Amino acid sequence: FDSRDGEIWFDGAFVPWSDAKVHVLTHGLHYASAVFEGERAYGGVIFKMHEHNQRLVNSGKLLGFDIPFSVDEIDRACEATLARQGFEDAYIRPIAWRGSEMMGVAAQSNTIHLAIAVWQWPSYFDPAERLKGIRVDLAEWRRPDPRTAPSKAKATGLYMICTLSKHAAERKGYADALMLDWRGQVAECTGANVFFVKDGAIHTPTPDCFLDGITRRTVIGLAKARGIEVIERAIMPEELDGFEECFICGTAAEVTPVSEIAQHRFAVGDITKTLMNDYAAAVRPAPKAAVAAA
Ligand code: PMP
Repeated sequence: FDSRDGEIWFDGAFVPWSDAKVHVLTHGLHYASAVFEGERAYGGVIFKMHEHNQRLVNSGKLLGFDIPFSVDEIDRACEATLARQGFEDAYIRPIAWRGSEMMGVAAQSNTIHLAIAVWQWPSYFDPAERLKGIRVDLAEWRRPDPRTAPSKAKATGLYMICTLSKHAAERKGYADALMLDWRGQVAECTGANVFFVKDGAIHTPTPDCFLDGITRRTVIGLAKARGIEVIERAIMPEELDGFEECFICGTAAEVTPVSEIAQHRFAVGDITKTLMNDYAAAVRPAPKAAVAAA
């Protein structure tokens, strides 16, 4: 991934893709003092860009640092990087981290860096498998208690658990893993939030110890606009057999149906299909006002 064409925005300037490097004694690398975002552009417009970049700045604050750019400046930088790469549909990855001036757990005054990379990532899961519903395993690792880690931050350190879980699932032939939280309640997948359908209503875990995804909130809005009841509550793994449909959602994953979680089976049903389509329509910018055909 480190030798591609194009340029990466790095601390306010564009550098060639393969020159966007950091030193091995970077604090962010040793102690996970880094936060990031995942955004998607559709038709040249970054969906919910400002919300994502606001979350990036907030994630930095939760790790005790101020990113030296305002949310508006980060917005402009994301747009400039997208335009520079020349893609209409693309994935945008801003990342901020503590630099390399001091080595040790404490690094109060290390420079905070920000980089933004843009690449094409059309489908997070195999496109054919995605339509049939992906197969998901139950992870052995759990999301931590919010007293153990700042679980509202999109912080790199929290992804150690996600990579461990996703790798274990992939080794068993699954596409992803569903993680429980420290209490044993259903939490989220390794890069997406989870939803279930039962008797025409949607059930989704209360996001009190994992990311309240921007896609999650969008999908809840779309479901309510359709008059579908959405119930946010604690969901136990023993309940999985009682649900008819299951889907996951996130910026990269979009709305993806789930056909299996370990021994549990789900249909790719009407509510999942409706929300897949509604989400696909919502992310596309409105067509430019048609020139009046006169
Ligand atoms: N949970 C995790 C662990 C994630 O990595 C993501 C993707 N950022 C999400 C949920 C969904 O968040 P969003 O909809 O804001 O992309």
